[in-house]
Amino acid sequence: MTSRSRQRVKDLLGRFADATGIYARNFRSKMVIVTFHRVNDWMTEDPITCGTGRFEEFCLFFKRHFRVVPLSAQIAGCRAARDMGGTLSITFDDGYRDNVEVAAPILGRLGLPATFFVATGFIGTDYTPPWDRHLTRQAGWMDWDQVRALRRMGFEIGAHTDRHVDLAAVDPAAVRAELTRCRETLRRELAEPVTLFAYPFGGREHISEESRRIVQEVGFACCLGAYGGTNPPIPDPFRLNRVTIGGWFATPNQLGFEIVMRSA
Ligand SMILES: [Zn+2]
Repeated sequence: MTSRSRQRVKDLLGRFADATGIYARNFRSKMVIVTFHRVNDWMTEDPITCGTGRFEEFCLFFKRHFRVVPLSAQIAGCRAARDMGGTLSITFDDGYRDNVEVAAPILGRLGLPATFFVATGFIGTDYTPPWDRHLTRQAGWMDWDQVRALRRMGFEIGAHTDRHVDLAAVDPAAVRAELTRCRETLRRELAEPVTLFAYPFGGREHISEESRRIVQEVGFACCLGAYGGTNPPIPDPFRLNRVTIGGWFATPNQLGFEIVMRSA
């Protein structure tokens, strides 16, 4: 089967799961965190970019099937051992400029909270990361005024290291330095402490136990990976997983089906 026809089958199975109440029963038993990178209509062929129409479809799907809450509310729930099943939070990674220019107005119109994880060393620069070098036109990073504007709009800002370093590949001193620099920069630029943390790259192979321990020591309240799973209703805040939304999810129902199939 081609990936296109697999997407179509999963979309159909998702619609079936919705119509028969499987979504409602299944989603209640999971805490879901989704993550986006870019939202715009001029680079939608790129796998980590979501077009505006599709982004809005996903947002409406989240509203319809979950209690969409800020990530910090999920973390507070985890810490208090409250059942967070049926909740979903929306996150963004890296700090692309279209997050404030394109995604934030859509989220605002729909009344949805979100958390933006920024690599502090990218903010306000022209740096092109290795994963974007194939692009003919760069999406660009937010500057600090734009990050502060997101905060003023009521969104949350989180830490994503300073230089988007693979924390499993460097020594403990470098892990600590990256985390501390990121945290201090955010505190200075936003004039408030930032306690949310998401791993760069976010695969299982990028999350070492040693770095997880340092994330806690440095003072963050959570560790988020991104290897495609959901969380149990009362998860450990330092072992949270996210579903990355990119070109591989053609429709919200395909995502819904994937969430049903993943064990929490
Ligand atoms: Zn990232």
